[in-house]
Amino acid sequence: MTYPEQFQGFAISDPKDWATPKLTSFQPKNFGPRDVDIEVECCGICASELFALKNDWTHEPLACLSSKYGPKTQVVGHEVVGKVVAVGPEVSLCKVGDRVGLGAQASACMQCSRCQSSNEQYCAQSIGTYCNPYPDGYVSQGGYASHVRAHEQFCFPIPPEIPSELVAPLQCGGLTVFSPIKRNIQGKKNPRVAIIGIGGLGHMAIMISKALGAEVSAVSRGYSKRDDALKMGADHFIATSEPNWNAGLDDTFDLILNCASSTSSLDLNALLPCLKVNCNFVSVGLPHIDEDFKVKPFSFFHNGCNIGSSKLGSREEAIELMQLAVKHNFRPWVETIKVSEAGVSEGLTRLDKGDVRYRFTLTGFHDFFGT
Ligand code: NDP
Ligand code: ZN
Repeated sequence: MTYPEQFQGFAISDPKDWATPKLTSFQPKNFGPRDVDIEVECCGICASELFALKNDWTHEPLACLSSKYGPKTQVVGHEVVGKVVAVGPEVSLCKVGDRVGLGAQASACMQCSRCQSSNEQYCAQSIGTYCNPYPDGYVSQGGYASHVRAHEQFCFPIPPEIPSELVAPLQCGGLTVFSPIKRNIQGKKNPRVAIIGIGGLGHMAIMISKALGAEVSAVSRGYSKRDDALKMGADHFIATSEPNWNAGLDDTFDLILNCASSTSSLDLNALLPCLKVNCNFVSVGLPHIDEDFKVKPFSFFHNGCNIGSSKLGSREEAIELMQLAVKHNFRPWVETIKVSEAGVSEGLTRLDKGDVRYRFTLTGFHDFFGT
């Protein structure tokens, strides 16, 4: 059986197989009145997928294994670009044939104060694009697949100027950094931003901060990404492997955005004094569940700064980000990999090793799935 009864995707049922998802057929979620089916054209690979497949963000078993309804396997993928092939009867935000993007969120209540104030990513009933249970028990399945089904709110219109493989990483990674950068620097004169961790999210954060008018410092563990970061538009480069790397940086930044996937190299006691008064250290990086922040309260007493976090972004912000990319002509640095069991495995394995400059997009879905 194939679409619409069944989708096909690359799935695991045991986290130890995280690097070798296998081609599987699976039942989609029930088709809701505001649901959209996307025939996938390409899909970025985000580090969150490594954490999800390895089950590193929880001490519980994979959610799909205990679900009473739906697949017992897990497909990930949440930087989807594709074509709308079906819409529920109440859908008004897109139509069959549109090219749309889908990020890491697939549903929200759309009624609460957060949903009604363009903060739907913080809705208490938010459902991620994969690994999250719907109220009926079905665990959401992602976009390394022939098709993906999501609420229309999270299917974003894509400007014609940006090719699919380059716009895919903006759906999660780009949006995740755009939201806190914009919210923290808008209205400020000559803002200075530091971006920590020059990977998928970090490299987009450099370009987005520049486009929003900031002076940007790229902060990395060593020097290997220095030339690239400057090409992306960074004004300064800081290698934290250098002793005294923070000398002279007290009272410098309006925002420090942490995009690192581990806290192991993060010296908050050295970073926080670099913020201006009452400014924010915002972490979007989400490490292994057993990792912590280690920080002395006195490190952020003298500037009254704040430690915070940020989750994804809103539909409004996703649309604004793509318009910004068109206006300022920046694009994620993408290496494409043809989708297949071997291709998915290669992308995940190389991302796990840090062997990526700076985002993979899986392509060729129509050829592979015959869609
Ligand atoms: P990447 O692997 O592409 O980049 C992560 C970067 O972290 C690396 O390039 C590296 O930068 C830095 N880093 C620091 N310490 C380590 C370490 N011990 N091992 C490996 N890298 C390290 O990941 P992504 O950009 O795709 O994702 C970054 C983080 O953001 C992940 O934790 C992901 O789960 C999270 N995320 C959070 C979202 C949210 O809503 N908050 C949404 C999407 C992703 P360098 O070499 O420059 O030091
Ligand atoms: Zn992501």
